[in-house]
Amino acid sequence: MSDKFLSLIVPVFNEQEVMQVSFERMDAVMREIGYPYEIIYVNDGSRDDTMRQLRQIAKENKQVRVRSFSRNFGHQLAVTAGMDIARGDALIIIDADLQDPPEVIPELVKAWESGADIAYGKRAKREGETFMKKFTAFCYYRLLSSMSAYPIPLDTGDFRLIDRKVADTFLKMREHNRFLRGMSAWMGYESVPVEYVRHERYAGKTKYTLKKMLKLAMDGITGFSNRPLSIVGTLGTVFSMISGLGLVALIVLCCCAVKFPAWLWAVDGLVLLDGIIMLCMGIQGAYMNRMYDELKGRPLYIVGEELNVD
Ligand code: UDP
Ligand code: MG
Repeated sequence: MSDKFLSLIVPVFNEQEVMQVSFERMDAVMREIGYPYEIIYVNDGSRDDTMRQLRQIAKENKQVRVRSFSRNFGHQLAVTAGMDIARGDALIIIDADLQDPPEVIPELVKAWESGADIAYGKRAKREGETFMKKFTAFCYYRLLSSMSAYPIPLDTGDFRLIDRKVADTFLKMREHNRFLRGMSAWMGYESVPVEYVRHERYAGKTKYTLKKMLKLAMDGITGFSNRPLSIVGTLGTVFSMISGLGLVALIVLCCCAVKFPAWLWAVDGLVLLDGIIMLCMGIQGAYMNRMYDELKGRPLYIVGEELNVD
């Protein structure tokens, strides 16, 4: 059993109230699983007592490794920094605040042992969160999923286990505005949901401010859907076609000496002009989409398995 190694990655930002309990619960669960393991904390520029506590924990526990950012870079980059140094055959990403119960980790590991490349926590229920947070999350996940060209699982956060080969693919994707669960969906691989109840935060307040949440929401949509850019082009096409037909109709009416209000010319002309402008913007958008795809520098393809290929 010990030929495999697990890495637990925990991003932390001003979590002084939860650090000790969180470490003890996570460490106990990891020990119970039976594989050798490491716990990687990434301190995302905390300004409270978090780093002092981490120093103490790392001093007393050799399985704990710590990376500390010079300032707050955000949760998604903190997780990435953990992945960058993880040595495990499987990496598990979990929040420090115990909202994702560490006791679910053995189930993720079981799914991995049964062959899953990605085992992701799916929130069957969210406890202790405001109606507004639940409602916006519900709407956002559905909007994102309808816009994305790749199926992004609903009601799923970053709490997940990923196999080494998935982690290696992550390491190749160095885009700055990261949306890890979208990147994970984009990669494909054998993904298995593990349902769990998301608890209330153990202590402290959410570190995801509205601003951070909106940025993450935008990163999700802009990183995984080109639709916002192509919508303008589609609208332009529709407007141009309708007003083009309108123009033909007006000319025919004119030729047949049928009387109609003169302002119809102006309205039709305006819509036509707007349509043409939007169409031009759509064409620019198509080029921007392509530039954006190149800039992201993602791998062209990901090979899951090869047979008799050297
Ligand atoms: N976090 C982080 N950097 C940030 C914000 C949050 O590393 O800028 C960490 C935080 O310490 C926690 C995890 O990311 O371990 C999830 O944050 P939080 O629980 O505040 O988000 P919520 O669960 O309320 O969405
Ligand atoms: Mg939380």
